[in-house]
Order: sequence, then C-alpha cells, then structure tokens
Amino acid sequence: MSNQTIHYDYIIIGAGAAGLMLAKAMSLDSFFDRSSILLLDKDSKTTNDRTWCFWEKGKGSFDHLVSKDWKHIQFAAKGFSKDYDIAPFTYKMVKGLDFYEDALNYISTKSNIHFKIEEVLSIEDKNEFALITTQNQTYSSKKVFNSMFSYDMANHQTKYPVLQQHFLGWKIKTDQSVFDKNKATFMDFSVPQKGNTRFMYVLPFSDNEALVEYTLFSKDLLPKAEYKAALTTYISENLQIKNFEIVETEFGSIPMTCYPFSKNNSRHIYHIGTAGGWAKPSTGYAFMSTARKIPFLIHHLKTNKPLNILEFKNRFWYYDLILLDVLAKNNSQGHSIFTSIFRKRSPQLLFNFLGENTSLREELYFVWSCPKWLFIKNLLIRILHKK
Ligand SMILES: Cc1cc2nc3c(=O)[nH]c(=O)nc-3n(C[C@H](O)[C@H](O)[C@H](O)COP(=O)(O)OP(=O)(O)OC[C@H]3O[C@@H](n4cnc5c(N)ncnc54)[C@H](O)[C@@H]3O)c2cc1C
Repeated sequence: MSNQTIHYDYIIIGAGAAGLMLAKAMSLDSFFDRSSILLLDKDSKTTNDRTWCFWEKGKGSFDHLVSKDWKHIQFAAKGFSKDYDIAPFTYKMVKGLDFYEDALNYISTKSNIHFKIEEVLSIEDKNEFALITTQNQTYSSKKVFNSMFSYDMANHQTKYPVLQQHFLGWKIKTDQSVFDKNKATFMDFSVPQKGNTRFMYVLPFSDNEALVEYTLFSKDLLPKAEYKAALTTYISENLQIKNFEIVETEFGSIPMTCYPFSKNNSRHIYHIGTAGGWAKPSTGYAFMSTARKIPFLIHHLKTNKPLNILEFKNRFWYYDLILLDVLAKNNSQGHSIFTSIFRKRSPQLLFNFLGENTSLREELYFVWSCPKWLFIKNLLIRILHKK
C-alpha cells in the first residue's frame, strides 16, 4: 500500500445504480469539469448481476437501454385474476450490464473522473475531510458519496421495522411457446403464503423465455432450497411447463424500512442509493427513485450547501411507515392488502401513488382501498406510542 494519501474533490464509493447515475450526471455537467472525481468499486461491473424494472409514462432517459417493455400487466391471487392495460404507463426493463457499460463509457471520456477497482476497507469522517482506505491506497475528500449498504445500518434499532424484499429469479427457456410476451405478471399471490407475503413475478421476454421470480416481503431470508422448490412447483403446476432450462439466475434482498438512513450522514460523508434509504420502503423499487434524486443532489452540490442538510423525506414516508408496520405485524396479510388494492383501484393510480405523484385526495382514495381496520389500528399505535 502506498502511504501517500491522494486527495479528490469528490469521491463516489460504489459504481452501482446510484454511484453511476451520480458519476454520469457529473460527467455531463460542465460545472464539474475542473473537479477531480474518484469512483471506486471492488467490482469491475462487467457482469449482468441484475435486471431493473420500473414504470414510466411515455419516453424516458433510459429508453436507449430498455431491452423489453410491457403495456399490460396481470395481478393474480387465490380466486382473483385480472389483466390490466397500464397506458399511459409502460413497464420497462434495463439489464444491469447495459446500464453499467453505458455509464462507464460516458465517464471514460472525462479525464477528471477516475474509475478504480479497489475494495474500500474503511471510511472515517475526520474533522477536515473524510479518509477512505482501500487495500491499495488511502484517499481523502471533503465530499464522499457512499453507496455501500449493510443491514447493520438499520438493524441496530427497533423503532422502524426492517423487512426485506427477497427473491430468487430464474431466467428460463422452454421448448414450447408458453408465454404471452406482451404481459408481465406483476404479482401472483396464488402461491402458498405460509404466514408471509409471498408472490411470483413473471417477466416474459418472448413466447419461450421469461424471468420467473419467487419474491417475499418478510423479515428473514429462506433457505436457498425453499426458493428453488417454490419456483419449480410454480413453473410446473401453475405455468404448466414440463421442460425448461435455467439460463440465468438472480438473487436479491432489498431493505424495506422507514429507518432514516440519513442519520448515517456526516459532515463529509453522504449516503446514496439503498445505503441512503433511496429504495422505496414499501416496495423495494429503487432504480427510478434514485434517478429522480440525482438532479437534486447535483443542484445541491452546485449551490455548495452542506451535504448533511439534503433530505428527501416527504408525506409518502408516512404511508410507507404504516404499510410496513402492518406487514411487519401481520406478515400473512400482504396478499389480502394487495388483492384489495388491485380489485378496487387501477394500476395507474397505484403507479402514481408509488411514484409519489398523487394529490392528497387521490392518496386518501387509494389508502381507502386497503383493509381499514389493519391500517387504522397501526396508525393509532404509531400515534399513541409517538413512535
Ligand atoms: C437482483 C436485484 C434486482 C433488482 N431489481 C430491481 C428492479 O427491478 N427495480 C428497482 O427499482 N429496483 C430493483 N432492485 C433494487 C435496486 O434498484 C438495486 O439494488 C440497485 O442496484 C441499488 O443501487 P445502489 O447503487 O444503491 O446499490 P448497488 O447497485 O448494489 O451498488 C453498490 C456498489 O457498491 C459496491 N461495493 C460494495 N461494497 C464495496 C466495497 N467494500 N468497496 C468498494 N465497492 C463496494 C458494489 O460492488 C456495488 O457496485 C434490485 C436489486 C437487486 C439486488
């Protein structure tokens, strides 16, 4: 290890969704042309380690990377199944690798932005700057953006329940035409709930290829074999597929919590992405919610305000809080909550609500579709316990 500390104006830790969106935005803004910027990741980001889906109205800034989209979705549960035309929304999919390559290409054109593949071992906020130690080097900066996430950041407290959206996905290929490639199965709750909130998510790419994901909103991970068994049963019994090949797999765990991750920010270290609490607590969707925050962060940097005053909390945080309280205490009730929403309200209203684009009147109308006693009880508990 070199013993000379190298100073940068900005250091971004993690070249994932948040780190790369931030680095790309900086590379496209001439304001940062004279700043030295370091992007660090322990990984070279050359594998397709995930697929991102999100809904959007009309055209969007990731359209050049979208490899598949759907204009129809299906919701299913025991005794209820419905297809929805989601216009004016489209459900879009971006492959992780396409996103990484695109952003890294932009960044490589800028001589002031350096991407280094090094594992960060520690970050300390010293009085005058933050000090970052990797296996090779120490770096310092007054503005560090950290996207390294760990459940320890939220699990040390009990005020806000910490659930996980955890899933195993198999991209499968069949020898027959079995999928409707125009329709994504958003949630299929017809699978055994076993005391949790469990559903299948199916993204068909063609009539014989799809990503089938077994997803839970619950506190603890399952043994790997249980995800596999559920996928096998669903593919053979529900989808009636006898022969298939697993082409790719993806496993993920995304935090679902209203814990204010901003508590971990300090004078020189600002947390971004999942580590900054940017994953929507009630759904785990983080890609678009991250994309929407980056322009605010860029504006904040350009106005040279202190990092630790930048907060994104709004009234939607309270809706997320109550839903997570309900799911944490009544984990088996997720299927009835989501079925009630899909029975009574349109997916357009759901997307607007989750995208935080609704008026207060629309929000009350939306929330009214949920099982009332569960929500009112948990709201009262929060109010009475002032938690
Ligand atoms: C499999 C999967 C599928 C998902 N699908 C969706 C989806 O469809 N839609 C959606 O909205 N959200 C989805 N998410 C949630 C969320 O969008 C992603 O997790 C997203 O990648 C979060 O971005 P991030 O920058 O916070 O973290 P990441 O993208 O995970 O980036 C963090 C980076 O930090 C690096 N790093 C970690 N530790 C170190 C270290 N010690 N030193 C150096 N570098 C380090 C990692 O290598 C990584 O590149 C998914 C998540 C997963 C895991």
